Amino acid sequence: MKVTVNKEIVKKTNVIWGKDEVTDCAMEEFAEAIQAVSKVRRFPKDKRTYENLNDEIADVLIAIEALEDLGLIDAESVQQFIDFKQNRQKARNTNKEMLLAAKAGK
Ligand SMILES: [Mg+2]
Repeated sequence: MKVTVNKEIVKKTNVIWGKDEVTDCAMEEFAEAIQAVSKVRRFPKDKRTYENLNDEIADVLIAIEALEDLGLIDAESVQQFIDFKQNRQKARNTNKEMLLAAKAGK
């Protein structure tokens, strides 16, 4: 996802509000995103659920920048985890495809 979060605003927000408030906010935003995903699944015909999901994902992305600015997460380490997990998922996908093909008698 290519989006832009203004890091200067994040930095100033962290200075003004402090680590406890910002991390509390991050937890709340992650929880709101979970709920928004659930609402999209439960009410797929309601266009407001998709708008709300975009809204909450924006909050999550800002919160992630805030956690990075606080020094709680590190982009290089996160990238390493992403690479590891995506390689693992790639193998799982291959296994699942083979299972599904076998089940379908292919
Ligand atoms: Mg929110």
